[in-house]
Amino acid sequence: LLQLSAPLFLLGMMYREVKQALTNMERLFGLLDERQDVQDSPDAGPLVATRPSVRFEAVRFGYDPRRQILHDVDFEIPAGGTVAVVGHSGSGKSTLARLLYRFYDVDGGAILIDGRDIRRLTQASLRGTIAIVPQDTVLFNDSIFYNIRYGRPEASREEVEAAARAAHIHAFIRSLPDGYDTQVGERGLKLSGGEKQRVAIARAILKNPGILIFDEATSALDSQSERAIQAELEHIQRGRTTLVIAHRLSTVMNADQILVMDGGRIVERGSHDDLLARDGHYARMWQLQQREAERAG
Ligand code: ATP
Repeated sequence: LLQLSAPLFLLGMMYREVKQALTNMERLFGLLDERQDVQDSPDAGPLVATRPSVRFEAVRFGYDPRRQILHDVDFEIPAGGTVAVVGHSGSGKSTLARLLYRFYDVDGGAILIDGRDIRRLTQASLRGTIAIVPQDTVLFNDSIFYNIRYGRPEASREEVEAAARAAHIHAFIRSLPDGYDTQVGERGLKLSGGEKQRVAIARAILKNPGILIFDEATSALDSQSERAIQAELEHIQRGRTTLVIAHRLSTVMNADQILVMDGGRIVERGSHDDLLARDGHYARMWQLQQREAERAG
């Protein structure tokens, strides 16, 4: 048994070392943020607006040319405004966020920031303007301090702690035996879904972006964490142009406009009250969630 387990143990160790090396390399080349197949066009210029508007104009897109996912999607987020997107799983909500961050280019139509086609912007300035709070945050095998400072690597210790405070994770970090030096990631402390999302919010606060994309976690948080994250979100979205991809309708009630997606199309749009009055898709989703919430007590 020993003879067999020693090589396996070594292999496991090597695997972890290689994986760490890969993570470091990706970090070095910024691969975690950038895909290589989208290139700056020769005439690309920087985006300078601090509070830009966002506009999708008749956007068509498919990951595979044989399967169109988005069909003529049109909407606008005014400078500093909030648009929330709801719809069934697979309706195309997260795809909107991926296109805005330009992980992929559209097949038809255009995405404009402050009136400029994002294909004419340098990727560095585009991505410097947008912060994403994703559903599931990737943590590096490093300290929690490093993980938060990733939002703006030149930030000072005070700035990192201020961001953590605003994201309501500072007290938790201080309560850990190693504080901000606590190792997280695969080899370290496993953070809960809510804690990871707070790390992402702290990163976004440090980055201080003009545009914020919040992809709400699908995994159920307990209702207390959910309310807390919602409050933190409201705090950072103030004054920023925000796209919220919502899985729970309670998150979207305060949005300026709600888009309801179905099969890659926007089938309804309006405020929460407008949409309830219309008694369509949104009203049905709302009634369903209310009943579920009542059943859950
Ligand atoms: P959810 O609420 O479950 O997160 P969603 O509304 O955000 O769903 P998207 O992630 O935008 O949905 O996916 C829309 C469609 O695109 C789905 O049918 C999905 O299978 C497909 N899709 C998503 N990502 C890819 C990909 N990388 N390659 C191919 N197809 C993809």
